[in-house]
Amino acid sequence: MNDVRRIAIVGAGPAGIYAADALCRSGVDLSIDVLDALPAPFGLVRYGVAPDQKIKSVAAVLGRTLARPEVRFLGNVSAGVHLTVPELRRHYDAVLVATGAPESRRLDVPGADLPGSRPAGDFVAWYNGNPDRPPAIDLGRHRVAVIGAGNMALDVVRMLVKDVTELVRTDVPDDVVPVLRARTVTDVFVVVRRGPEAVRFTPPELRHLGRLPGVDLLVDPADVAVPAGAGEGAAVRASAVDILRGRARAKIADRAEMLRACFTQP
Ligand SMILES: Cc1cc2nc3c(=O)[nH]c(=O)nc-3n(C[C@H](O)[C@H](O)[C@H](O)COP(=O)(O)OP(=O)(O)OC[C@H]3O[C@@H](n4cnc5c(N)ncnc54)[C@H](O)[C@@H]3O)c2cc1C
Repeated sequence: MNDVRRIAIVGAGPAGIYAADALCRSGVDLSIDVLDALPAPFGLVRYGVAPDQKIKSVAAVLGRTLARPEVRFLGNVSAGVHLTVPELRRHYDAVLVATGAPESRRLDVPGADLPGSRPAGDFVAWYNGNPDRPPAIDLGRHRVAVIGAGNMALDVVRMLVKDVTELVRTDVPDDVVPVLRARTVTDVFVVVRRGPEAVRFTPPELRHLGRLPGVDLLVDPADVAVPAGAGEGAAVRASAVDILRGRARAKIADRAEMLRACFTQP
């Protein structure tokens, strides 16, 4: 009798692949199918994280798990479309769902649906060549507001301001290159609700942004005046806020006016 347990993992992002790795090390005889709706594995590591980020290299580590003889990657298989979970349960001893957070969270503020306002997920899917990506994003603007205080915001900012010759050396898709080259963005405003306690940038990414040639990182001293707050992640947050304090200059011109300009530019 065959004692090999058959496992299906839905989602070939880091969570699904790390789960496969842990199962492989369990000592149980297993055969693992990792299914993904997309043709290629690694989830947001491939289709989300900006192409100039070192963290992207974690794909090589994840790839080693997929290369194990007891693991098989099956792309273009969408659970709920091609197979239902009950169907999977009939064919496998266990089904593990690791589908991440595939939907962009809508910004619940008036004007969020106006032309020119896009979820960052659309932008990152586009420049990462996600097969379901939207058509080309219009970068023929001067001012862009990026809403959010995490590394995804910093990825987006870098793709908007970093020297194009640096970006095109990465594996951005061929059709993205001319749009990046024609980019006219000169000012990017990073809009963070609340203050330093809401900052989720990590220090290396923030430092990287501050060191980009031709990019001036400006911070209004009033925005970083209060402490970064205690609790989970306090040390990282304090360090990020210190970097921002190092960039604080005399009061920046009327911010409301600058932001309005983002939405009224031609
Ligand atoms: C722009 C950006 C920058 C980031 N930068 C960093 C960083 O610098 N450092 C860091 O540590 N993290 C970073 N992250 C976060 C990191 O990418 C995620 O935390 C991580 O990818 C989450 O892994 P996951 O496996 O849970 O989900 P995902 O990576 O989203 O993987 C889920 C997989 O499930 C698949 N799937 C979804 N639904 C189905 C279905 N019905 N059937 C089959 N398959 C399905 C998807 O196609 C996807 O491949 C960044 C994320 C983004 C978007």
